[in-house]
Amino acid sequence: MTASETASLIDGRKISADIRSEIKTETSEWVGEGHRPPYLAVLLVGDNPASASYVRGKAKACRDCGINSDTIVLDSSTSEKDLLDKIEQLNTDPDVDGILVQLPLPNQVDEQKVISAIDPSKDVDGFHPISIGNVVLGQPGFAPATPAGIMELLKRSGVETSGKRAVVIGRSNIVGKPVLNLLLQKGTDATVTICHSRTKNLNQIVKDADIVIAAIGRAGFVTQEMIKDGAVVIDVGINRVEDSSRERGYRLVGDVDFENVSKVASQITPVPGGVGPMTIAMLLKNTLAAAKANV
Ligand code: NAP
Repeated sequence: MTASETASLIDGRKISADIRSEIKTETSEWVGEGHRPPYLAVLLVGDNPASASYVRGKAKACRDCGINSDTIVLDSSTSEKDLLDKIEQLNTDPDVDGILVQLPLPNQVDEQKVISAIDPSKDVDGFHPISIGNVVLGQPGFAPATPAGIMELLKRSGVETSGKRAVVIGRSNIVGKPVLNLLLQKGTDATVTICHSRTKNLNQIVKDADIVIAAIGRAGFVTQEMIKDGAVVIDVGINRVEDSSRERGYRLVGDVDFENVSKVASQITPVPGGVGPMTIAMLLKNTLAAAKANV
């Protein structure tokens, strides 16, 4: 990793398109061998427009790759018991390979209880405690899509991780903690530090990093001064900032001050078009793997 005037872009859209194309080929070969197409069941509870839009994106991505999927839409007043019953029905249906429950869930439903009810062999979102446990132990299983997508971005961009110092900012269960464990695994071999809102000397810790993963949820949190010359910067954040020049009144930015950090980093992901597109690609990958294991 060397210092550069302008970092090269890690293009998540391109890498995600490559992965989807590979999945499409592999799915077609699988079906060509006489198997039924992989099948993903998506549960959408309520009418949150953002969730509905994410689910439409996932369904389209499935179709494009030859994966069948249905979205089961349940009323926002659905009880926890009814949702758990639905999951049990999908768990025992041999024609269902993957189950995805779109989050967030309405307040009357305990999210963790619902996630824990999914059969781990169908947990293509990788949020079940057993899936997370497998990530920690370095055992085969479904890694959560966003952290798995980050690892794929690093790998496909030729980023050396072995012996490198990686700093993850953010300790959430869906991004920070799993990505910490994936970076730590044998074969990846990074030396990893994780920071959070109580971390002291955060700027100094980040400045030491060869690889920085920012998953905070604060626009422009990571500034140029915090980044070592030549570091690789992965921006997971998705934040809305007011922008009256846009019809919708806002634009999406990451956790990294992209413009200035690009002047010192060697490689960097943009927002949008970096980590975001990888999430669906990894979901498709997990669904195909689940179908292959479910014969
Ligand atoms: P989260 O659950 O809100 O966690 C945020 C983390 O950032 C927490 O660990 C928090 O520390 C830490 N943090 C907050 N303020 C901080 C500060 N001033 N200094 C140091 N650490 C601080 O968020 P998340 O779900 O991981 O998501 C993070 C971002 O990634 C969000 O913008 C989200 O929209 C985005 N995201 C993107 C994708 C994708 O597909 N691209 C997927 C998931 C999430 P504490 O634990 O101490 O509170």
